[in-house]
Amino acid sequence: MRLEDEPLLAHRTAYLAGAFLPEPDDEARTLEVRDPASGARLARLPSYGAETARAAVEAAAEAVESPAPLEARRGWLLAIAEAHATHREPLARILTAENGKPLVEARGEVDYAAAFYRDAAGRLDALAPRRLSERPRDHGWTVHARPAGVAGLITPWNFPLAMHAKKVSAALAAGAPFVLKPSELTPLSALAFFQLLDGLGLPPGTASLVWGDAPAIGEVFCTHPAVRVLSFTGSTEVGRRLATAAAPHMKRLALELGGNAPFLVFADADLDSAVAQLMGNKFRCSGQTCVCTNRVLVEASVAEAFAEKLAARVGALRVGPGAEAGVQIGPLIDRRGFDKVHRLVADALDRGATARVGGLSAAPDAGAGCFFTPTVLDRVTPDMAIAREEAFGPVVALTRFDGEDEAVRLANATEHGLAAYLFTGDPARAERVLPRLRFGHVGLNSGTGPTPEAPFGGMKMSGLGREGGIEGLLEYVELQTVAERD
Ligand code: ADP
Repeated sequence: MRLEDEPLLAHRTAYLAGAFLPEPDDEARTLEVRDPASGARLARLPSYGAETARAAVEAAAEAVESPAPLEARRGWLLAIAEAHATHREPLARILTAENGKPLVEARGEVDYAAAFYRDAAGRLDALAPRRLSERPRDHGWTVHARPAGVAGLITPWNFPLAMHAKKVSAALAAGAPFVLKPSELTPLSALAFFQLLDGLGLPPGTASLVWGDAPAIGEVFCTHPAVRVLSFTGSTEVGRRLATAAAPHMKRLALELGGNAPFLVFADADLDSAVAQLMGNKFRCSGQTCVCTNRVLVEASVAEAFAEKLAARVGALRVGPGAEAGVQIGPLIDRRGFDKVHRLVADALDRGATARVGGLSAAPDAGAGCFFTPTVLDRVTPDMAIAREEAFGPVVALTRFDGEDEAVRLANATEHGLAAYLFTGDPARAERVLPRLRFGHVGLNSGTGPTPEAPFGGMKMSGLGREGGIEGLLEYVELQTVAERD
């Protein structure tokens, strides 16, 4: 895919204080963005560090001083949603080029991103001042949702447009100026987004974009006094590091970290529907999302029938470059991702799992796209690495269980607690099992992931805070209670 002449990528530098920075000189550090389907270079960008991040935070700190009124914020949010709709095709093409996901999924991501802005615009009134009906101490009491201050936002590569949409929509709604650092693997979607933002007349400093030396930029977000909120989506390992660095500075943390999603299928479930839902859930972005099922737990009496139906569907998936019509599974993001999936499948096969379809894919040539054949592993046991680690690839791991207690015990046998899926035809069972599942998001007879209208986030090591719904907006405000003696 070629992006040289893409108008949305006319500017390829960081954005701060209301403008794209000038092109740096030839000596400056650079960063190469590659097409994961071919390994070809898509762009060479400047790479920024602590100094630019600090300048962006300081420009944002100035914007904190003159917060925009609620109606202006609503107008920006609606204009951003509209800009996504108007530029749906080029945004989707950029997304597929740098992330590898099929174009149909990329279009879906553009729509999903737009929905966060639209939803936040509709929910803004929740942030209006709230006057208590009581008069304790003979005072009038009013609760104001003040912008928390500058927000540092760090996003991953698997949803290069939607992950920042969740954060940016909430920050703008709350009136908190933000500095975004996208993944260095996929900065182009964020650049295109800023090209759209640039035309909307936001006050300088409201929105800034930097990328490059992730640890150095992260350090600025964790320690600069003007940054009051740090919102991060990525691995538990990096999340823990950021939380540790931010703790002495008392930042508000919103962390969406790793998952290890179980997909429970009881014998009383509609198996065809469960298989169809699993296909929609598991293979999004080639299995590289934090809500993608990582462990399928099937009641032993129906495991054979389930595995057979699933293998037939998985074996028919079409693998190839995301830009090609009809492709359902694109490449993995990079060689590191490929090697992890390969290691987990090899370990499972070594320890006695069987491949119902797929198996170990051959390692790609150096620099080539990393495609992994969709695989169903049967008879996976909890001692195998794939039961504990998130595969982030198109591999289904089937484990058999007997009875409700074993199902719940296996499902919760992880330090993570992001998403789970429960399939049963018995409402009484659902009522018993749901509260026992320690996951922030549960699909009941559904493989659906989050939606802008509802809060989404993890329990345990999957993170802190929520994105979406009113709860998502509240991450970016500080409540100020005014007690008025009148
Ligand atoms: P993944 O394994 O999915 O790439 P990471 O947690 O490594 O997840 O990356 C998610 C985001 O965190 C990316 O934007 C990446 O650049 C950023 N990141 C990685 N390491 C650090 C760090 N030490 N400090 C701040 N951000 C980081």
